[in-house]
Amino acid sequence: MSKVIVITGASSGIGEATAKTLAKAGNKVVLAARRQDRLEALVADIQAAGGEAIYVLADVSKLEENKKIAQAALDTYGRIDVWVNNAGLMPLSEFSKGLVEEWDRMIDVNLKGTLYGIDAALPTMRSQESGQFVNVASLSAHQAGATTGVYAATKFGVWAASESLRQEEAMAQSNVRVTVISPGAVDTELPQHASDAAVKENLAGFYAALAIPAEEVARSIQFAIDTPENTSINEIIIRPTAQTL
Ligand code: NDP
Repeated sequence: MSKVIVITGASSGIGEATAKTLAKAGNKVVLAARRQDRLEALVADIQAAGGEAIYVLADVSKLEENKKIAQAALDTYGRIDVWVNNAGLMPLSEFSKGLVEEWDRMIDVNLKGTLYGIDAALPTMRSQESGQFVNVASLSAHQAGATTGVYAATKFGVWAASESLRQEEAMAQSNVRVTVISPGAVDTELPQHASDAAVKENLAGFYAALAIPAEEVARSIQFAIDTPENTSINEIIIRPTAQTL
């Protein structure tokens, strides 16, 4: 069945791969991020392959911009079946480095961006009596270690919010599903943005040795979306077979 699917952070990595996979399967995708050139090229690729896609320039750390994404989906396609809260960043560092602006940014995008996405789409899903949130968390929603403190805090937060939302929607019998996707190392631009040089070097080696393609995560998202509506895939943990932590 063709669905209207919003994907945040669609301009690269997991979001981009998910957009291509879901559009190829016949869904209508609404792609949001900040880099216009990347989104324009992606929409052109999808359309050239016979798919349906639009893009919306948006910074998900702002509530109003999430509402703008939702409105664009409704104006163009008339409904929102799935909202993939995927936008995120991972500038890891030790607390002693005091990179507070990066902590704020992760909280604003990874955590508040997800909450704002829920706020932007839930009223529509409630009125449709149907919908699904796919919240991209991480293995860091389950474990914390040196340098991952703030990133893990945002992802634990995404996990907790998702479970609360799942229970609320089940109690309300709203037919709104909630899925958490928790990947390990995936080959994307994510590790390149660390400003701490030592962390960046470590991550580069770790990812080069292990990371799996973003298309594998896209396939797991597609599986959760395609499951019959009376069945809810609540979490998928997906990581390289050789990844320990
Ligand atoms: P990328 O860096 O390739 O993609 C991140 C995406 O988020 C980009 O499209 C970027 O677009 C977008 N983004 C960042 N900030 C904002 C913002 N303020 N508003 C809107 N969009 C924004 O990394 P991944 O694909 O790996 O990351 C996607 C998700 O997967 C993240 O939530 C990440 O935490 C999670 N994840 C990734 C793992 C990995 O190993 N790669 C492992 C576990 C989880 P733009 O810059 O154009 O706005």
